[in-house]
Amino acid sequence: AEDQVMLTGVLDYKQKVVKDVMTRLEKVFMVDVQTRLSFETILDIYKSGYTRIPVYEKSRDNVVGILYAKDLILVDPSDEVEVRTILAFHEKKVIKVLDNTPLNIVFRMFKTSFVHLLVAVHLNESKEMWIQNVDKMNHTLQCPQGVVGIITLEDVLEEVIKAE
Ligand code: ATP
Ligand code: ATP
Repeated sequence: AEDQVMLTGVLDYKQKVVKDVMTRLEKVFMVDVQTRLSFETILDIYKSGYTRIPVYEKSRDNVVGILYAKDLILVDPSDEVEVRTILAFHEKKVIKVLDNTPLNIVFRMFKTSFVHLLVAVHLNESKEMWIQNVDKMNHTLQCPQGVVGIITLEDVLEEVIKAE
């Protein structure tokens, strides 16, 4: 019976896709690219407890960067610099993944890209013009809009461990 449980777990993992395990956009702690890093906003970020904070411009489904909490250590709150400035300085690319990508592929992406967070994007018919930007081999795309959530290495590992 135990073997059966294990086997079911493995199948579950193989059949699951990004949107099954991602953190949905409504629940993602994010900051606006125009936010000024004052004492108060830096404190809010630390209080969130997250290491990686997606940065949006104009609307939350338009992610333009990832802010690393540890990169705030050197920020002087009295300068009140814009989040945009920190992003430009550290230049970390946002890596996007389609929300229907199977987890075994996502796991491989994490292993080869050395990042711990991917931004999940939903592709629908009204976004047909994006199709040219989809890298089918890599399950990634270039457009900033259409973000529906985030997925981290931890979200995938949890599924892998469940399957063991
Ligand atoms: P680390 O453990 O490397 O410090 P972390 O604790 O910030 O990172 P993860 O361990 O990668 O985050 O992920 C833990 C959970 O939190 C996952 O479910 C992930 O989707 C979620 N998560 C990560 N970053 C955020 C965020 N900015 N807002 C909301 N949820 C997040
Ligand atoms: P680790 O505990 O492995 O150092 P981390 O918390 O620093 O993880 P990761 O998302 O795992 O954050 O990124 C690994 C390292 O690569 C970090 O030092 C981060 O600053 C850097 N990094 C993240 N994304 C990119 C990227 N797209 N391009 C270049 N460097 C990146």
